[in-house]
Formats: sequence, C-alpha cells, structure tokens
Amino acid sequence: MDGIVIIGAGEAGTRAAFAAREAGFADAVTLVGSEPHLPYERPPLSKPLEGTVQMKAICGAEVLEAAGIDYLRGVSAAGLDTGLRSVTLSDGRSLHYEKLLLATGARPRQLGCPGAHHALDFRTYADATAIFSRAQAGGRVAIIGGGLIGMELAAVLRAKGAAVSIIEVAPKPLGRVIPPRFAAKLHARHVEEGVQFHLGQGIAEITPGSVLLADGSQVRADIVVAAIGVLPDMALAEAAGLATGNGILTDVSLRTSDPHVFAAGDCAAISHAGGGHIRFESWRNARSQAETAGRNMAGANETFAAAPWFWSDQYDLGLQVAGLPLPSYQSVVRSVGEGELEFFLDNGCLVAAAGLGPGNSLAKDIKLAEMLIAAGINPDPEALEDPGVNLKSLLKSARAA
Ligand code: FAD
Ligand code: NAP
Repeated sequence: MDGIVIIGAGEAGTRAAFAAREAGFADAVTLVGSEPHLPYERPPLSKPLEGTVQMKAICGAEVLEAAGIDYLRGVSAAGLDTGLRSVTLSDGRSLHYEKLLLATGARPRQLGCPGAHHALDFRTYADATAIFSRAQAGGRVAIIGGGLIGMELAAVLRAKGAAVSIIEVAPKPLGRVIPPRFAAKLHARHVEEGVQFHLGQGIAEITPGSVLLADGSQVRADIVVAAIGVLPDMALAEAAGLATGNGILTDVSLRTSDPHVFAAGDCAAISHAGGGHIRFESWRNARSQAETAGRNMAGANETFAAAPWFWSDQYDLGLQVAGLPLPSYQSVVRSVGEGELEFFLDNGCLVAAAGLGPGNSLAKDIKLAEMLIAAGINPDPEALEDPGVNLKSLLKSARAA
C-alpha cells in the first residue's frame, strides 16, 4: 500500500491529514506544501494585532510527527499521473499513492493593466510581511479591490495611521458575498474612518508612486496592493485530465472524476443539490470539507453537508454570515444591542442569517441561527424580528414540533 498523499499544506491539506489519522488510517500519510513554513492559518494575516503580522501555525512539527504525518515543506507537486497513481515533486522525487487529495487552494487574480507588477498580492505570510513592513504611519496605500481582503486590510492600515484609498470596479464595496445592508454599514464605517473610495473605477496603469484610473484621475500611493479575488489552483488537476470547471469538480463525497483522487477547500467545486457545482472560499469550509475528505480517503463514505459560514473583522466590528443569503430571499431584521441580525427566508423557510455588531457580540445568536437553519423551520417573521423573543425558544419549539 502506498498510503495517502496530500498536495497543499494549507487549512484543507493539513486538516485532512489529521482527519485520516483520527479515522484510523494506519499507512503512510504524506503532506506536500510549497510554502517554507509549518502549516499556518491565513485569517490572522489580515487581522494583525497592533499592526504586527501573526504567524499562527495550525500545528507544531512535533504534532505532525506524533501523528505520523510526513510533511515535505517547501516542495511542490509538479506533475500528476492518475494512471500510475504517482505525483512528481519539484525536487525530482516521485510519490505513489493509494488515495490522493488535491488541496491546492487558490491564487490571487492578477491585474492586466500596464505596471501591474508594481502591485503586491495578499495571500501568504510572505505577502503580509511585505505589505506590513512597508506600510508606515503617514504613508499612502492604494488597495485595488473592495472585497473582504481589501476592506480588512484598509481597517488595519488606518489603525496604523496610513492614508488608505480603495479602488473598486463595482459601484459599491463588498458586493459579492455580504448582504447589502451590512456591506453598506461597513462601507459607511470605512468612510467615517477616513478611507477614500474610488468606486466604479477600472485601472488604466500603475506606476511607482501612483495608480492611474480609467477616468484619467490619479491616486498617489507609496504601496499598491491588489485584492481583486482569487482563482482556484487547479493546474495539476487540469494537466492530469480531471474534470474541472470553477474549481476541481467533485461529487458530494469530495471525490473527483478519478475515484482515487479527492479535492477539498478553495480549489474544490462540490456537486450541489440544486444542480451544478459550488465552490466556497472560506476557512471553515476548507476545514470541514477536508475533514470529510480525510475520513473518506481512510475508507468512510460520508457526504459533505456543512452549511457555509464565514466571518470578517473590520475595526471593532465583527461580521458573521451563515448559509447563502441570496438577494431574492425575504429579509427580516432584528436589532440586538448595538448590532443587528438579518434573517433570510426562502418561501417561509429560514435558510441564512447574518450579523454585524461590536466584536464577537453576535456570535451566540449566529450559532443559534445556524441550528435553526439546520432544523429546517418556517419561523414566524414577527418572532424573528422581535428582540424580545429568545432564539433559543424558537429552537426549542422547532425541536418539539
Ligand atoms: P490555501 O490556504 O490556499 O492552501 C493551499 C496551499 O497549497 C498553499 O499553501 C499553496 O502554496 C499550496 N500549494 C498549491 N499548489 C501546490 C503544489 N502544486 N504543490 C504543493 N503545494 C501546493 N476565511 C474566512 O472564513 N474568514 C476570514 O476571516 C478569512 N480571512 C482571510 C484572510 C486572508 C489574508 C486570506 C488570504 C484568506 C482569508 N480567508 C478567510 C480565506 C481562508 O483563509 C481560505 O478559504 C482557506 O485558507 C483555504 O484553505 P485551502 O487549504 O483550501 O487553501
Ligand atoms: P473578493 O472578496 O472576491 O473581492 C475582490 C473585489 O475586487 C471584488 O469586489 C471585485 O469586484 C473587485 N475587483 C475585481 N477586479 C477589479 C479591478 N480590476 N479593479 C478594481 N476592483 C476589482 O476577493 P478578495 O477580497 O481579494 O479576497 C480573496 C480571498 O480571500 C477570497 O477567497 C476571500 O473569500 C478570502 N478572504 C476571506 C475573508 C473573510 O472571510 N473574512 C477575509 C479575507 C479574505 P467584482 O466582484 O465586481 O469582480
């Protein structure tokens, strides 16, 4: 037996290795990662404490060793032969596998304008160190892209005293994944904090010292960061002839079109009950898909069923979103202290919820909302709206029913 080989030592790859072991897999487990560090968490990179980049390891070297996980760090998988069930590595070695996991994550989308090479990416610890070591109080930073990374980075840099501009091609920031109500509140908070927005603007050119916008205006900047989204890293899968689309296509058990190869995390597009495949770009998704894939590689046959959830911290505000809040759903808003919850109903059924408030103040409510969503209930919208009605009591009556 050749054991399990995992390509990519991010959240998904590392969690899958441990999950396979915890499920009792006794043969070799090899984790291959291009980056030169121990596996680490990405979310703290854009939420540095006092402006200092944090390297939060997922586990120590001794924990990997104790679990019998052979971690090949700073090594890339360069080729995959699904017929021979082997992977060629950048150092010339080959690994044979019984089961393979592709956990290659995603790469920053690249700008296509002249001077694009002047813009820094923000995906890795090395990227974060490069940005934060250069961003000084009083310095000017232009961030291209008003998505989650752009807005989190802007908040941190304003706290460091940098002058921050956000250039966003859409008419509003955070339009892609956050319910419009909370996107607008976060936008307003950034404006209050002094972030300059240039909305509905493409980039004509980046030069050392400035960004030239499509309308001819100029944004002066000592540092330019591109945060315009990511693309799933599926080069190995494509070259090996695996089925791909907006990610490496998998069935509900995270198996790719080759039964010996699995995929999980940002690179994977999983079969969706509503038809087609869906890909998520969030920490919890990477972790929970990986745990299912790890157990399935160890011999289980589980279906991945976790609902999406993510969070974002900007200034002192915490945002959490559970489920997929589509614009077509009925929205019900409840005030909670200094924050707000928004519930989303599809034909009366609670399918998603979001919360925005100081720090972690709405975490408990979102947890309860997740349980209500999982219970598949049709709550009375007036009860959802009324802060006097305890969400726990709704859950109790749902369970009793
Ligand atoms: P990745 O983390 O991208 O890991 C993939 C790894 O595979 C990489 O290390 C890559 O180098 C390696 N690799 C790729 N190809 C090869 C190869 N051929 N050979 C060997 N290794 C290879 N999500 C949230 O929910 N909340 C947050 O607050 C949040 N904050 C974030 C902040 C930042 C700055 C970033 C960048 C992301 C954030 N995310 C957040 C998203 C979350 O971190 C990702 O969804 C998650 O890391 C995805 O994990 P992954 O293992 O699928 O991919
Ligand atoms: P993102 O959320 O997709 O946002 C990218 C933004 O850039 C979008 O608003 C996009 O607009 C805009 N854009 C695209 N091309 C542009 C251009 N040429 N000029 C100006 N704006 C442009 O991606 P991201 O913020 O880069 O984050 C990358 C990844 O990290 C994502 O996977 C994200 O989920 C993850 N992440 C998550 C969190 C979190 O959950 N808290 C935090 C940070 C990062 P359009 O939508 O109109 O294309």
